[in-house]
Amino acid sequence: MGTQSFVELRCPNRHGMIENCHGTIEWSSGICRKCGTQHLDENGYPNLVNRAEAKAEKAFYDHHYQNTFERGSHTSFHKKQVEQALALWNDPWKQHDQVIWRNMCDIANKRILLLGNGESDKELAFLKLNPAALIYSDLSSAAVKVIFERYEILPYGEIVRGAAIDAVSLPFHDGSLDIVYGYAMVHHLPNVRLFLTEVYRVLAPGGKCVFLDDAFAPVWQYAKLTILRSLMRYSHRKTGISPEDLRFSMSGGFRQSELANTIESLGGEPWFERSSFLAYIVGRGIEKLLPAHLHRVFLAPGIGRCLNALDHFLAPLLRANFIRLAWGFAKP
Ligand SMILES: [Zn+2]
Repeated sequence: MGTQSFVELRCPNRHGMIENCHGTIEWSSGICRKCGTQHLDENGYPNLVNRAEAKAEKAFYDHHYQNTFERGSHTSFHKKQVEQALALWNDPWKQHDQVIWRNMCDIANKRILLLGNGESDKELAFLKLNPAALIYSDLSSAAVKVIFERYEILPYGEIVRGAAIDAVSLPFHDGSLDIVYGYAMVHHLPNVRLFLTEVYRVLAPGGKCVFLDDAFAPVWQYAKLTILRSLMRYSHRKTGISPEDLRFSMSGGFRQSELANTIESLGGEPWFERSSFLAYIVGRGIEKLLPAHLHRVFLAPGIGRCLNALDHFLAPLLRANFIRLAWGFAKP
């Protein structure tokens, strides 16, 4: 970072119907320099979610991550090191992780925003790639708290911050970020076009975004609506699902052509990379339906590698049914 200041937060406050504050917020105090509003929440992080429609979703996740925090708070005495996050990218059951990593490995000196990151900790590995700034965010600041409590963040204090952020109303000035990242997150949003417009706005020219979601895959969708229907209901009851997640799951995933049209209409250059059919379906089935103590047995790396090899072999036949979709765009 040197003498440069950290990426600035932009005040999301509205005065009346039209005028936005857009003042700059101090990270440490959470105070807007223009309107004076104090944006820190009870977790001690800036909370910049003020859209009424985001409240139900935020409440779901605040509750979820607060529970996680209380269950795991004893671990704060033995904080994990950031180095340990690197290994989390090598799960053979998650071939899409290798795709995402490949798209994130050139982030030295870049300003990065992680959106809807929940308590996912593998993104801490990005700190080892010398970014200029890494912003951890989620609708729920309780999620950020979980991460910062669990890991030894202090050595990276100059380049990492956390905040509660609404992805369809990004609290950043135009062109102030180089990379926007969202892992299994965009599909939670009710309005993808509005979201991508915001991402395009906050990216600097030459910047890019990197997302992971599910693609529309006809075979998988047919199975979900027919033979797997009651199994899916059972799994949703067992593990819980957010309102937005359920809506997307039943709609059957993103169609590349629709995303490409939206991105191109904004001026961006879209990219897509699909992976996993068998590895995804078998892995999900094991995670969702078998008791936790059996996961280690059935999710053995060797089995994952076999299924990946099979997916690779079947790719000419199955590509349109690969389920994981890494995607995004570059801003010229
Ligand atoms: Zn303000």
